[in-house]
Amino acid sequence: MSLASSDQPALSAAPIFSFGPEGADGDGSKKSLLGGKGANLAEMTRIGVPVPPGFTITTEVCTWHGADREAALAYLRPEITTALKRLEKEIGQRFGHPTAPLLVSVRSGAPVSMPGMMDTVLNVGLSAQSRRGLVERAGGGPTAMRFALDCELRLVEMFGTVVREISGSAFAIPRDRALAAEEVGHVGDLSLSALETLLEESRSVFAVASGSPFPDEPLVQLEEAIEAVFRSWHGARAKTYRRLRSISDTLGTAVNVQAMVFGNIGARSATGVCFTRDQATGEPKLYGEYLANAQGEEVVAGTRPPPRIGRSVKAPTGTSFEELFPQCFSELLEVRETLENHYGDVQDIEFTVEEGRLHILQTRRGQRTGLAALRIATDLVAEGRIDPQRALDQVDAGALGQLLAPVLTPEGRAAASHRRLTIGLPAGPGGASGRIALDAETAVAMAKDGGGPVILVRAETSPEDIAGMAAAAGILTARGGATSHAAVVARGLGKPCVVGCAELRVSHRGHRIEAGNVTLSEGDTISIDGSTGEVFSGAIETMDSEILRVIDGALPPEHSPTHARFSQLLDWADERRTIGVRANADTPEDALRARALGAEGIGLCRTEHMFFGEKRILSFRRMILAHSVEGRCISLEELLPWQREDFRQIFSAMDGLPVTIRLLDPPLHEFLPHGESEIARFAEESGLPIAQVIARIDETRESNPMLGTRGCRLGLLHPEIVEMQARAIFEAARACRDAGGNPRPEVMIPLVGIAEEATRTRMLVDRVASEVFEGAKPVPYLVGTMIEVPRAALTAGRIAAGLDFFSFGTNDLTQMTYGFSRDDTGGLLKQYIDDGILEDDPFITLDQEGVGALIALATEKGRKANPNLKVGICGEHGGDPRSIAFCRGVGLDYVSSSPLRVAGARLAAAQSIVGK
Ligand code: PEP
Ligand code: MG
Repeated sequence: MSLASSDQPALSAAPIFSFGPEGADGDGSKKSLLGGKGANLAEMTRIGVPVPPGFTITTEVCTWHGADREAALAYLRPEITTALKRLEKEIGQRFGHPTAPLLVSVRSGAPVSMPGMMDTVLNVGLSAQSRRGLVERAGGGPTAMRFALDCELRLVEMFGTVVREISGSAFAIPRDRALAAEEVGHVGDLSLSALETLLEESRSVFAVASGSPFPDEPLVQLEEAIEAVFRSWHGARAKTYRRLRSISDTLGTAVNVQAMVFGNIGARSATGVCFTRDQATGEPKLYGEYLANAQGEEVVAGTRPPPRIGRSVKAPTGTSFEELFPQCFSELLEVRETLENHYGDVQDIEFTVEEGRLHILQTRRGQRTGLAALRIATDLVAEGRIDPQRALDQVDAGALGQLLAPVLTPEGRAAASHRRLTIGLPAGPGGASGRIALDAETAVAMAKDGGGPVILVRAETSPEDIAGMAAAAGILTARGGATSHAAVVARGLGKPCVVGCAELRVSHRGHRIEAGNVTLSEGDTISIDGSTGEVFSGAIETMDSEILRVIDGALPPEHSPTHARFSQLLDWADERRTIGVRANADTPEDALRARALGAEGIGLCRTEHMFFGEKRILSFRRMILAHSVEGRCISLEELLPWQREDFRQIFSAMDGLPVTIRLLDPPLHEFLPHGESEIARFAEESGLPIAQVIARIDETRESNPMLGTRGCRLGLLHPEIVEMQARAIFEAARACRDAGGNPRPEVMIPLVGIAEEATRTRMLVDRVASEVFEGAKPVPYLVGTMIEVPRAALTAGRIAAGLDFFSFGTNDLTQMTYGFSRDDTGGLLKQYIDDGILEDDPFITLDQEGVGALIALATEKGRKANPNLKVGICGEHGGDPRSIAFCRGVGLDYVSSSPLRVAGARLAAAQSIVGK
């Protein structure tokens, strides 16, 4: 029906869609009109799933009601009457009638899931008058009376809190008093007279708090409940939720009015939730929880510990559902088949058993862990329920990383919940327990002392902490955001990491940390969960990732069904995707691992990480502190063989695949010793006067080092550094080629902002190459630049003309586009996101509007000037699914991510191609 009058907005469809034995007006495709719940109720009705009948008021009516309440209600009332008549006829009861009363539930159901944001009222239509009818319906006698009183009590409380917005604590006062008087824990255990008294008292609470008696008129109850659901869409809580998740305010919510079925009518009744497969493991077995003689939200609310369905017949918390309700259990199994076949996916079902009869109240897509998602998707294909294309879209690419990280065991976490110290930003995968070490040196020493794993806890980390980070089982920092040094390196190392714990105080001098009123000393044990950002005191057991054990050769692949599924899914992804996937890797081990995970090359090898070996750092520091070119060259000569060997090993690990090596990038002072004792030790080891060391350190200090002498600027001031690195690269490539390999070096110039910087650096690199290959067949190589300074993006045409490739360094590009320090803004960004100023952390998910516009512009200009230009991305965004979709959209050739995100990137790249 379409309405059009001057004061009524046109509705594109009927305002109400019924579902019941006469059929369903709607279907599963009408989510935007009927909401997710309403569309699924209609769809289930159509496919013969036992759903209590009812009707759905559309989202359009909600929108209209928000704009013009009176007009919408006036229009809606007769429509509701018609829908109720159909419902009454279908089930042979009359709404709120004193005999055989039809009662209904009124529930919200938006087009997108908004858990906990909106409202439900049960038992609508019940009143002092219809109570008798309900008692009869329940078989009469005291048990039936108890049931009816229980229903009415729930209605008064729900109607009071949801519709009249009375505080729940007002109803808790008489309830607690009644429970205490009879020394019972649950309302259902009260004596009949106590229950009657409690109901009267609750009605009084209602009358006092809302200023009018509880409305016993069924239609008034229904209309008010419907309006309450509409209003909840416009409530402050729902609005904030929508803003944070970019859900449009104009969607509106549908309202589902459904005939009540009662799980609290007696021992042969129950209510429950179940998943058609295990959400944690994906095991193809129905499981869930139920409560006998209970209603509605009790299972979800967890007011009583629910016994399980499935998993084990002898459930630890009580009799299993299959024992108590064998017939309903087998019906539930049939429903599972029907729904999984129909939806081609795991379902999360709410159901009620009334007097031994099963009713399905809701179905929706089941949430799942990364492990479960993988198993479910591949099993559904193997069972012939879906095709591989569909399976690809069912796995959250971001969740694949969970399969690679050791994790805190769920039991351990649950047992440690009271020991939670603080929560920060989850920055590196998995979980770890270990002893607190407050600096890198201590971490290295403690990791070797045989006392067990170590967690490096710092206010923040810097490149010189790399050895400590590598030695530690996990990293925790008080400061920093998602692309702070700690987070980037931890992800690269595949280490659990939590950053930006604002509450955490790290006292390096005092050898202790504090969070809230807890103080822990260096050496005490903590546990961190890099997937949730939680930090606990004490140890929590961890489990190894099965897939990584296969990848690293510790477990034969045939012993790991998970690995087989993982490979299968990613093979399907590779068939679909069109954008390349490389890895950011700095060591041969990482390169090998990345390759085993499917990387098609290295997109970024950060050479500065290679200078932190014990001996290397001494030579490197001497090089920085040298006063003359000659002095620098002596140290560079010492470093050359190490670099060459590193590159040789990486080329051979990636034989036949491109390896992008970035010339030295970070500011030099980051490499210098910090603190008195470290400076003194360095002076002694290098034979330099301590005063000279201190003076030189002061000379290199910069106020804004990230905007200072770093990247290609460093190489242009000290060309001998570039020469040494280029020589190491080409000599390593030549050695590999001469040994029969196929090295494919790509030299990358960092932080270019001026075309001339790239031109001059390239000349240096080309000169060294011609020297190294003199008299021999040259190894083909490419020279390109990172685009990480906005000026480089704006002038990309000029820069591209003399180069072979661009790689977007979106960590710096984001930093410099926003003017947000990537190392210090964790707290600020969190606040911005909480306040709705930003939707996402731009260091995690690419800011498409700003940074993305620069990427698109630079790609276009670069390719125009140089049609052969290869273009990739190597900032952290290269592993983020949404950013990957953007990169494919603007035509990049590849994304590059840390090794453990390669698999997720392959999947995200496939998912970015819609509609296959
Ligand atoms: C970047 O800036 O995006 C980048 C990859 O370089 P780094 O993180 O090493 O500065
Ligand atoms: Mg950078």
